[in-house]
Amino acid sequence: MFRNFKMVSRVVFGRGCFQQLRDILHPVRNKTGSFMIFIVDDVFKSSPLNRKIPLHDGDTMLWANVDEEPTTRYVDTLVDKIRFFSQNLPGGIIGIGGGSTMDLAKAVSLMLTNQGFSADYQGWDLVNHPGIYHAGIPTLAGTGTEVSRTTVLCGPDKKLGINSDHTVFDQIVLDPELIMDAPSDQRFYTGMDCYIHCVESLAGTFLNTFSKSYGEKALQLCREVFLEHGSKRGIEIEEKLMMASYCGGMSIAYSQVGICHALSYGLSFVLGIHHGIGNCIAFNVLDEYYPEGVAEFRKMMDTNQIRLPENITADITPENFEKMINVALVLEPLWENALGKKWKNTMTREKIKELYQRM
Ligand code: NAD
Ligand code: ZN
Repeated sequence: MFRNFKMVSRVVFGRGCFQQLRDILHPVRNKTGSFMIFIVDDVFKSSPLNRKIPLHDGDTMLWANVDEEPTTRYVDTLVDKIRFFSQNLPGGIIGIGGGSTMDLAKAVSLMLTNQGFSADYQGWDLVNHPGIYHAGIPTLAGTGTEVSRTTVLCGPDKKLGINSDHTVFDQIVLDPELIMDAPSDQRFYTGMDCYIHCVESLAGTFLNTFSKSYGEKALQLCREVFLEHGSKRGIEIEEKLMMASYCGGMSIAYSQVGICHALSYGLSFVLGIHHGIGNCIAFNVLDEYYPEGVAEFRKMMDTNQIRLPENITADITPENFEKMINVALVLEPLWENALGKKWKNTMTREKIKELYQRM
């Protein structure tokens, strides 16, 4: 069976297109007759972007703190806040921020219409009802969250996405101006998430021409941004980065990521290391699996003057090693994509531990 996957319904792209948000939301407000909730990364509290958000009377702005990556507990708290604020469902949830904030918006939209707690839905296709209208507006580029069918959350016992067709955004607004001022390190780490999506997708056993076409395009754009342009910034370069993220996300939508992502989830769950930098740390020890990709990644690090933290697992207790290995092993489709159906024959707990010990 071929996967019949859901895509984002509407996309607007271009410098300054954020200004169209008022018009974009107008029909949604008319149809639902309800208010909007804006979930916005609190890094923008005192930025000009804050003043450009088209708030109407009755709308609510929730500042998201993403110092820690989104947890199921945080999602449930936001949902409780919205329910406390009004007995009526909002007309839409608009997430403005990096992958973390956009994921919060997706998860909140789903949990307003589905019973129970968000941790109940971590997994594949467990969501019963469509969420309410949700729009994503990235302020960092690389995760591909804007096009993906998942919202990645740290739960009580695992880091795992709520993967479902209902998770996909109804609308995305891709305005390269919003990513212009991202700090260089963060821009690099999130950008490398995209680069690694492409390498893992293109080297994977799930690859098909659909994924390959998007993956190759995204890879080419990453090379232009991080090798040819180096540490230079500019609106046209950010446009490329934004499209790299989109295409990288489309590539994995019809294939899968691989070993680096599985290991990075463990790092994030146990050590609280954010996804982008965690991927970089994990990818840097994966020469054995992605030799060309890792060599090129190191060139990109040099060109962009990035130094990764070292010996991050030096003080980890044996219990925490076990936890990290458990979290990594939950992600079976990732291992299968990387190593084929018989992946368990080669990827043992000892091998995973050895890889973690090298980080
Ligand atoms: P992020 O959203 O975690 O943000 C990283 C930091 O950058 C935060 O401190 C944030 O406040 C700050 N920031 C965001 N935009 C900024 C801007 N324009 N200027 C200054 N600071 C800014 O970073 P990310 O790498 O975009 O997202 C990582 C998250 O995305 C993780 O939680 C990961 O699990 C998730 N993710 C989701 C998917 C998916 O398909 N749903 C895919 C990959 C990663
Ligand atoms: Zn990723």
